[in-house]
Amino acid sequence: MEKFVLSSKTLAELENIVSELGEPKFRAKQLHSWIYTKFASDFEAMTDISKKFRENLKQNTLITDIKIKQRQISSDKTIKYLLEYVDGNMAECVLMRFDNRPNLTACVSSQIGCPVGCVFCATGKSGFVRNLTSREIVEQIMIMQRDTGLRVSNVVFMGQGEPLLNLDNVLEAINLINSEVGIGIRRITVSTSGIIPALKRLRDINFQATVALSLHAPNHQIREKIMPIEKKYNINDVISALKDLVNATGRRVTIEYTIIKNVNDSLEQAKEIVNLLKGLHCNINIIPYNNACNAEFEKPSEEHINKFKFILERSSHKVTVRLERGSDIDAACGQLSGKIKNV
Ligand code: SAH
Ligand code: SF4
Repeated sequence: MEKFVLSSKTLAELENIVSELGEPKFRAKQLHSWIYTKFASDFEAMTDISKKFRENLKQNTLITDIKIKQRQISSDKTIKYLLEYVDGNMAECVLMRFDNRPNLTACVSSQIGCPVGCVFCATGKSGFVRNLTSREIVEQIMIMQRDTGLRVSNVVFMGQGEPLLNLDNVLEAINLINSEVGIGIRRITVSTSGIIPALKRLRDINFQATVALSLHAPNHQIREKIMPIEKKYNINDVISALKDLVNATGRRVTIEYTIIKNVNDSLEQAKEIVNLLKGLHCNINIIPYNNACNAEFEKPSEEHINKFKFILERSSHKVTVRLERGSDIDAACGQLSGKIKNV
C-alpha cells in the first residue's frame, strides 16, 4: 500500500487518514499540531502520541515525500533549497532574513521552469516543464520550517514560474498557507509578469494578498524586447487591469522594476514611468539586475540607481530599492535555475 503523506494536509484530510489507520479521529488534531506548530520531522518526537499509534504512523505514513536535494547558505544567512519532487523534477525556494527585522520570508516557486521566457531571467532560460500542485507549493514553506525550526512569517511567490499561469493551484496553496500554516493573507505577495485574464479573476474574487507586477520597462517597445509576454498582454491594458483590481480590493499593488544598464535605466525613462503609473495606487520596488548567466546585461551603478529613484519619487509613490539577498549562492531575484550546482 502506498504511504499517506501528512504535511500540507488539512485537518479534515488528516482526520480521514487517521480513520483509515484505525485510530480515533481526534488524534488528527495532535498530528496537525505536531506538523504545523512544532514542525516535527520524525515520529519519535511526537511524545504525547502512544507508541502503538506512532508505530502505525511509521509503517503507513510519511511526513513528506519531497526531498531536499541541496541546501546552500549565503553569507547574509539566506538559505536556498533545491527540492526534488516525487517525479524527479526539481525546483528552488529561498528563505530570507533581514537584519533588524523578525520577519522570515519564504520565496516560493509555482512552476517547474517558466513558459514566459523573460530574457534577463535564469528561470525563463530553462524552459517550462509543468505546474506545481498546491501541496508542492505549500511544502516549500513546511520544509523550510522543519529544516530550521523557525516560523515563516511572510511568503512571496517570486521563485520560479509565473504564478498567474497556475492560478487554481496557487489560490488553493494560498488557502492552505492561510488556514493550515497560519500565515495571514496580508503577509503574502504574488508577483506576476501581467496575465490579464488572471488579474480579472483576482479582481472578481476580491483577492486580498498583495499583487506585484513585474513592469521592467517604461513602454511597450522596450518591454516587448525583454518580456515576450508584452506581445500578448500590452502594458497599458495590464495597468488598467491593475487599476480595476485596486478598485475592487482596496489593496495597493507593488510595481517591481528590474533596472538594467542601458536597457531601461535612463532618467528620461524614469519620467515615462511616472506618467505610466499616474492614477495607480502603488508602491514601487526597484530591483538592481542580478547576473543570470547573461553576459549582455549589467546592473547600473548605485549612484545612478539613486538618481533614477529620485525621479520616480516625484510621482508621490513610495519607492524602495530591493535589498539583494543570497547573490553569492545564486539565490537572488532571477537567479533560480532549478538545477544542481557544484558547491
Ligand atoms: N514570474 C514572476 C515571479 C518571479 S521573479 C514574475 O516575473 O513576476 C521575481 C522578480 O525578479 C520579478 O520581478 C522578475 O522579473 C525579477 N527578475 C527576474 N530576473 C531577474 C534578474 N536577473 N535580476 C533582477 N531581477 C530579476
Ligand atoms: Fe518567468 Fe518571472 Fe522569470 Fe519572467 S521573470 S521568465 S515570468 S519567472
